[in-house]
Amino acid sequence: MHSLRKVMENMPIMIDMFSDTVTRPTPGMYEAMVSAEIGDDMSALDPTVNRLEAMACEMLGKEAAVFACSGTQSNQMGVKTHCNPGDELLIETRGHIANFEAGGPAALSGVTCRQIPGHNGMLDIEQLEGMIRADNQHLCITRLLCLENTTNSGGGRAYPIEQVERVCGWAHDNGLKVHVDGARLFNALVATGYSPAEFAQHVDTISICFSKGLGCPMGSILVGSGEDIRKARRIRKLFGGALRQAGVVAGAAVYALENNIERMEVDHQNAKAFAEAISGIDGIQIDVDEVETNLVFFEVDPQLGDATQLSTKLRENGVKIGAAGQYRLRACTHLDVDRDQVLQAAETVQQCVQEGFADLVGSATGPYARG
Ligand SMILES: *Cc1c(COP(=O)(O)O)cnc(C)c1O
Repeated sequence: MHSLRKVMENMPIMIDMFSDTVTRPTPGMYEAMVSAEIGDDMSALDPTVNRLEAMACEMLGKEAAVFACSGTQSNQMGVKTHCNPGDELLIETRGHIANFEAGGPAALSGVTCRQIPGHNGMLDIEQLEGMIRADNQHLCITRLLCLENTTNSGGGRAYPIEQVERVCGWAHDNGLKVHVDGARLFNALVATGYSPAEFAQHVDTISICFSKGLGCPMGSILVGSGEDIRKARRIRKLFGGALRQAGVVAGAAVYALENNIERMEVDHQNAKAFAEAISGIDGIQIDVDEVETNLVFFEVDPQLGDATQLSTKLRENGVKIGAAGQYRLRACTHLDVDRDQVLQAAETVQQCVQEGFADLVGSATGPYARG
């Protein structure tokens, strides 16, 4: 206890831009959780979960929705809803479902991921054409297209609505279903200006995270047709995600949908300000124009060291930014960092690069850690 306090005293103040998942509920959100009406959601008797699911249907213009524990869970529910064992899904090379969900499609649904290089994590029909396997006994069945909006590893990019229409039209014309990993769907909507329903009309199922920019401690939702969501509900039970008095967390999600969407614009502006502030640093590579939402990817000059080493150096100086590749780092803005803090973080990047970090042992945490 004593030594822990000593360590804490010596630690610089942490500006945590590691992820938009690090946010803590605000007092208003806690209040919504505490005062939520609750019941047994497994029997569809939790009024707050029911209200949340109805709100999501209304916003997205879909028939049904099912609350889930995490974005990984609702994505994997989506995959299993659409596919049979032996089927194949198409996804951009960097897609979360293929890379960062512990091999879920293979392990949980017997589905292989065909990873297709796109642009900024997004696919267009020129990359997709010819990717559907012929009806032939030697081949697996191409069943599902997975899109990510915004893209995570692709750079926090939002699909233009014309591209959504084009790609989904192609998929449906070819007999595919479309599932959207919309972990950050609302960032995409705020950045582009299209409405949830304008986007959702083109796709079959969408998974949305409440624990990212929306600021909730946990939870996600899968939205789609009545038939698909009925199936997904059974799969949620199979995956151990059917909960009881889930209103205590759904209350946070209702609060977030009512209060935390428009303000994402602030996160996007802070991301831009951070990107601009680090763009002048010798040894840092970033294209400010590529920063569209709340994720800022940048590269460190290999002559200075690698991303894990810079990450360590930053952490020692009170800023948490993770490695996202050998020389690539990712910084996130969110509810719990303000403009002053992101500018302070940019100054710390400058100072760390100036001081050097080649002698440090790199430490990477999170999904991009190597070795
Ligand atoms: C965060 C995230 C998810 C969900 O991941 P969890 O670890 O389950 O929260 C899904 N897709 C993308 C693109 C994400 O960034």
